[in-house]
Amino acid sequence: MSYRIGVLLGDDIGLEVVPVAVEVATAAAEHAGATVDWQELPIGRAAYDTLGSTLPDGTLQTLQTLDGWVLGPIGHQAYPKTPKAINPHPILRKHFDLFANIRPAKSYPSLKSLHKDVDLVIFRENNEGFQPDRNMVAGSGEFRPTEDITLSMRVITRRACLNIARAAFKAALTRKKQVTAVHKDTVFKLGCGMFAEACKEVALEFPDVAFNEVMVDTMALKLVMAPQPFDVLVTTNMFGDILSDLAAGLVGGLGMAPALSAGPNHAMAQATHGSAPDIAGGGIANPYAMIMSVQMLFEWLGQRNQDRGLLAAATLIERAVSEIIAEGNALTPDLGGLSSTQEMGRAVTERVSFLEVAAL
Ligand code: ATP
Repeated sequence: MSYRIGVLLGDDIGLEVVPVAVEVATAAAEHAGATVDWQELPIGRAAYDTLGSTLPDGTLQTLQTLDGWVLGPIGHQAYPKTPKAINPHPILRKHFDLFANIRPAKSYPSLKSLHKDVDLVIFRENNEGFQPDRNMVAGSGEFRPTEDITLSMRVITRRACLNIARAAFKAALTRKKQVTAVHKDTVFKLGCGMFAEACKEVALEFPDVAFNEVMVDTMALKLVMAPQPFDVLVTTNMFGDILSDLAAGLVGGLGMAPALSAGPNHAMAQATHGSAPDIAGGGIANPYAMIMSVQMLFEWLGQRNQDRGLLAAATLIERAVSEIIAEGNALTPDLGGLSSTQEMGRAVTERVSFLEVAAL
């Protein structure tokens, strides 16, 4: 089976880490015998400067026809304040119903990190909650009726809660079989209450998966003090956003935080980090998060299509990255190394091609 995957570079360090991730993934696919046709599409500041829009006509339509895509970080804070310079990524998430934002946090024995033996994944609901750019069809979920009062609306639907809970429990079956729902229904009795009800309902469908609930403030404490026991965390949008940055901080920083946004028919590889304008152009951005986001996309597509080739490509990437990290000779400065983004990427690409596919 062959796949068509879009490449949207994004802004700032996206221009550095996305090509590296595609290079690694191309080598892995070729080596594992999977056929991937990469298709670059315009988005972000470069698209605005050349085509007059940060999400040009045609990009959405083409994405619809693809199996998935890679989205680099978006530097929307620096966009000009005009209607054609919108932040495209909430639109992509909503348009393709990418309701599950899946954010793993994994420590590596050889890397400096606050904690060792961390291997957890956060399933964050992606399309509603407090985020005002996602929770309304028209208008904004935030408004200011007087100079001194601001209201921020949080949208919680049963459908979205059930969807994210099911995705989390399914993933737990392939891991340590343990789901923790994170919310605060002691205070948000209706909003978090509905989320908790949905999680409990779905838990009954998965008797082999252990289930518990932790209040979000307690979870912040537990993650900082002892994150090791956790496996799959499932939570609403904003809590997930905050906790996934916290989890990245436990294992070495944002450069170590890959992510996938997945929906019923499409998935988008998009690292947790932003466009990091402070380091853009310096060749020092850690490509791990972007490489492993594409690895997650391969795994998602491979499982969906029961495609051994693409699953093997995903395993190759994971192994190659682990080996390069363990050896420690080609790491970016945030990981304590002296290598550039491209040098770390090249080391992973070479290792991917060197590994035995038959041994997987
Ligand atoms: P956003 O609001 O768009 O998510 P942010 O405000 O969280 O962005 P980032 O752009 O993610 O900010 O950057 C936060 C810090 O992490 C910056 O100091 C940045 O340099 C660092 N950082 C982010 N990504 C990487 C990376 N891939 N490699 C190294 N450092 C990174």
